[in-house]
Amino acid sequence: MTKCPICDNGKLKSGEIEETMFGIYLGKFPAEICDRCGESFTSEEMTKKIEMIAKEKGIWGLGIKTKVAKTGNSLAIRIPKNIAKFLHLKEGRDVFIHPEKDKFVIETI
Ligand SMILES: [Zn+2]
Repeated sequence: MTKCPICDNGKLKSGEIEETMFGIYLGKFPAEICDRCGESFTSEEMTKKIEMIAKEKGIWGLGIKTKVAKTGNSLAIRIPKNIAKFLHLKEGRDVFIHPEKDKFVIETI
């Protein structure tokens, strides 16, 4: 049995994981799961399959790094076109923004 590379204590056992990306359910996939820390590892082949499904659902690459800009006395963050499309955001639409620990959340309402 393989030792877990994350916690270095647990052993990896074959199991199944439910994969989600940006809150979208992608499906169940076979994986090696650590019996101590619960970390899961998918094979290269499965990782590629998960990537393919995410691409099919149009959510692959939606998470990107962006910069905070200044506009007047406020700060602005540009929302990339594909994220705006995913969230059905359009100019003039109301959104609710709030901080959440180390996140900045924009809720579509
Ligand atoms: Zn572990």
